[in-house]
Amino acid sequence: MRDVLSRRNFIRKTATAGAVGLGAAALLSACGKKEGGDTKAAAGCNDVSGLNAADKGMRTSNAYVDKAADPKKACDLCQLYKAPAAGAACGGCTVIKGPIAPKGTCNLWAAKSA
Ligand code: SF4
Repeated sequence: MRDVLSRRNFIRKTATAGAVGLGAAALLSACGKKEGGDTKAAAGCNDVSGLNAADKGMRTSNAYVDKAADPKKACDLCQLYKAPAAGAACGGCTVIKGPIAPKGTCNLWAAKSA
């Protein structure tokens, strides 16, 4: 009887540990996803797969980068910046199409008006 109980306990504990492991894996895989299904935060804001050649060219010709060398000229301080949706890592821009990092920048940076 004692042997049956300990076997039951083993099976119960193993099933619980497996469920916890699956839950943790699901949480970790969801961690990098953003609202609206756009760019993963870990990949930065450089997923331009949805853009046409002209829009990609605008990013390149205006030297868009995910991290501004001068933090005072970051996208989130630019008047053309559109803040990310709740829970999203990347915002947008009224001129440069595609995902925009809050701390990115480009040659079109313009200070927000007061
Ligand atoms: S214009 Fe350039 S600096 Fe301003 S928000 Fe758009 S990408 Fe960022």
